[in-house]
Amino acid sequence: MANSKYEYVKKFETDDRLSPSSWIVVRIDGCHFHRFSAEHAFAKPNDENALNLMNSCAVSMLEQFPDIVFAYGVSDEYSFIWKETTQFYQRRARLLLPPFAFRKSKLLSLSVSYFTSAYVMKWKEFFPHNELKVPPYFDGRVVCYPRAKIVQDYLAWRQVDCHINNQYNTCFWMLVKLGKTEREAQEFLKGTQAKDKNELLFQQFNVNYDKLPQMFRKGSCIYRKKVNQILLFFCHIGGRSGEVGRYWKSCHENSKQGGCGTHGYNRPQVLERAPV
Ligand code: ATP
Ligand code: ATP
Ligand code: MG
Ligand code: MG
Ligand code: MG
Ligand code: MG
Ligand code: MG
Repeated sequence: MANSKYEYVKKFETDDRLSPSSWIVVRIDGCHFHRFSAEHAFAKPNDENALNLMNSCAVSMLEQFPDIVFAYGVSDEYSFIWKETTQFYQRRARLLLPPFAFRKSKLLSLSVSYFTSAYVMKWKEFFPHNELKVPPYFDGRVVCYPRAKIVQDYLAWRQVDCHINNQYNTCFWMLVKLGKTEREAQEFLKGTQAKDKNELLFQQFNVNYDKLPQMFRKGSCIYRKKVNQILLFFCHIGGRSGEVGRYWKSCHENSKQGGCGTHGYNRPQVLERAPV
């Protein structure tokens, strides 16, 4: 009720406006997914269905929030890049405080709750024979970056992390499948360099690391492209084409249709200006 004697409690709310004219990155990450993945018998080191479920949820995010221009995902995490704030946001009064800045708590809570709901709703589509046993949940953080170059470096940082983790996990699970305990595999890999791991995979397991699926090695990105006046969402999953839902097509399919180039996934590109 307005102007009641209780109104003063609002004064305790802190001002959490995000600085205007900067790029906003929201990164969400599954809570205790090491355990969650074991409880739901994810394939190791990479469960493709679980990754595609994450990708599909990220596509839903781009459908729901028009101001997200790009998303990058790996493992149980996804980063969403919101375009720098403009007067355009004036219309969304409830999300914003003047002068047209996002409220950090709103942005974060909307992102995390929407992603989590989508994850639960879509679970059956990706795991038709695997019952969801416990509620999945995600944490999230928001960081503002003043320049697109820094956002590019941010994405490169996440992708390097993806590579390092995937290379380690690939070796780790090969050793475990060979009969080592998890502890022994961990000990075995302690102190090894990237070169040693590649060598191990090649010599012992006859695996050429560079030939593993790109989605595992490099992660996934989702962005918008205007094609014949229809706005589509594309998910680059390492050259593997496959449509999930109405809007999700791979870059390769897209480039065959002509008219728009693909984005490098080796180094994720941040669009200087949203292409809408
Ligand atoms: P925290 O709550 O701190 O994030 P966590 O257990 O989620 O803890 P992370 O560092 O986020 O730890 O790592 C996520 C873990 O989830 C991975 O180590 C892996 O075991 C598991 N995981 C996530 N996605 C997949 C997948 N697609 N296939 C197999 N395992 C996965
Ligand atoms: P916002 O996104 O800004 O919160 P909102 O539409 O959720 O917008 P609120 O002020 O939060 O607006 O009000 C919630 C509205 O949801 C109520 O006005 C009512 O119409 C509806 N609602 C919520 N719970 C119930 C309920 N149990 N029974 C009937 N209607 C409900
Ligand atoms: Mg975490
Ligand atoms: Mg996690
Ligand atoms: Mg993680
Ligand atoms: Mg409400
Ligand atoms: Mg309400």
